[in-house]
Amino acid sequence: MKIPKFIAYATLLCSGAALCAEASAQQYRTTDIRDMALIYQGGSHRLDWTVEEFRPYVVHEYADGERDWLFDGFLFLEFKNGSGRNYTVGYEKLNARRGEWEWLLGRIFEQGKSLSALDQCIGEEIARLGKPGFTHRIVLGLPEAIRGQKDWGELDGRTMDFSDEKDQIAATRWYIDQLIERFRAAHYKHLELAGFYWVAEDTNHCEDLTIPLSDYIHSQGYLFYWIPYWQAKGAGEWQRLGFDIAYQQPNHFFNHAIPDSRLDDACAFAREHGMAMEFEFDEKATLDREDTSHGRMKAYIDHFEKNDVFNTSALAYYCGNRGVLTLHESKNPQDKALMDRLARLIQMRRYLQTGYPGKVSTRVVAHRGYWRTEGSAQNSIASLLKADELGVWGVEFDVWLAADGVPVLNHDGWHDGYKVPDTPSTVLTGLRLENGEPLPTLAQYLDAARATKVELVLELKPHETPKQETRAAEEVVRMIDERKLAKRTTYITFSRHAMLEFIRLAPKGTQVLYLGNDIAPEELKRLGAAGGDYNYWVYQGNPSWLDYMKREKMISNVWTVDNPLEMIRTIRQGIDYITTDRPELFLQLAK
Ligand code: MG
Repeated sequence: MKIPKFIAYATLLCSGAALCAEASAQQYRTTDIRDMALIYQGGSHRLDWTVEEFRPYVVHEYADGERDWLFDGFLFLEFKNGSGRNYTVGYEKLNARRGEWEWLLGRIFEQGKSLSALDQCIGEEIARLGKPGFTHRIVLGLPEAIRGQKDWGELDGRTMDFSDEKDQIAATRWYIDQLIERFRAAHYKHLELAGFYWVAEDTNHCEDLTIPLSDYIHSQGYLFYWIPYWQAKGAGEWQRLGFDIAYQQPNHFFNHAIPDSRLDDACAFAREHGMAMEFEFDEKATLDREDTSHGRMKAYIDHFEKNDVFNTSALAYYCGNRGVLTLHESKNPQDKALMDRLARLIQMRRYLQTGYPGKVSTRVVAHRGYWRTEGSAQNSIASLLKADELGVWGVEFDVWLAADGVPVLNHDGWHDGYKVPDTPSTVLTGLRLENGEPLPTLAQYLDAARATKVELVLELKPHETPKQETRAAEEVVRMIDERKLAKRTTYITFSRHAMLEFIRLAPKGTQVLYLGNDIAPEELKRLGAAGGDYNYWVYQGNPSWLDYMKREKMISNVWTVDNPLEMIRTIRQGIDYITTDRPELFLQLAK
């Protein structure tokens, strides 16, 4: 029996399983399937779904010739048979009967098409690319036994009457059994049946029918999937309705009058209700047509990136009848670029789940500690301990000298209206951070750090005068040395003077790195710095800098890289350290 298993990309954001369950209302949903393509299949008006029609859904070929796996899940669904019969309410005048249900079963399991073609296509691609490192999972749509229907036909010698819920359940159970049996009998080599999908996209007609159906599906060891439309009845209570995962449709792509803010609203609704997201496009995503919606598909990518969907949510992809195929066939390079962009994100999502496939020598530094998690705050002792617990290589934190000469932790130089360098530490330590913790002194922070294994990346903020910076550097180095933390400490700063002071004061061999882009690596080396800690775009804009640093065995650190696509680029470039607000995402890549 298959045990329903939820792999939460976001589990690392929680400090324990119980907390995750409670916090699920503010997170997207994930499941075994990361990226599930909707395949409209069955009705006589649809594609046959041959091996070649499936190929661009199985493997994406990038503009540079690279070929890689694309979707890891396929949902086969149908609303109508193409000759006047409904599989759910609202598409045709007449409802499908047992004969049309059986016909649909025949279409799904037709040799050389549909599932059989998909299995063959994956097999051919394994021969070319090698095994994908994941199993392609299948979800099969269930026709709705439509309430009140009396002409469906007989089951076990009895005429079904769908005004009786018992008969609705009996017919659907029979169909589920048929799907399971025929799937098993087909012996697909590369497909695993994951569960079933409810084709009605609201509960206007079916009401609570899904609850007993869900019990049956679970008793057979499968999951129950749903994709309600925007503001559909029942969407927010998908869990009560018996579903294991529901994807929110934004319904933005299809109507040019709908503002892009709909995408944000849909994401917010999904987070609030612990749902996953649906990404929507179709053949109109191609540019060379009058009614093109190319820009709307782009908007989905932009807004899903902005709303952290690609990093933390399962996704279903509505692609019309042949959206991926149409983009694949397009000769317009902009269509190619758009599909390449989506495919890179899907590739990245796979790496987040299974780990980056190559060697990862880059090590991760939690920027201002690990603060994007329950009970934490930037530059807090909690953020230090949580970073250590997470298993990062290092923790970055910011230090100012308070007016009384005591070093304290703070980023902006202002806290609750107090200017940090003009305020005595006795006042500052009475102020609270966002997690309720008092603003820490460096002494308190270092004392806590002694009990951890994490490396310390200490940033001294630029002060108003060189004299203040010298005083700060002297005090900081003294405190680090006193606690025997010198071997675990790297000093970083945007101030040239402070850098030179650290080089002068710190024990020989201590790593001192410079943060600004105004000093090239050659000069840093001449000045005695161990390396550079440059912004991501500085590295991308000056490729010779990294080459030089590698040649001269200088340390390279990059900030602040929160996007996994950029993390992957950093790993490929072989930068030594990456500073990020999302260390949990980096660790998913590096596992
Ligand atoms: Mg900093």
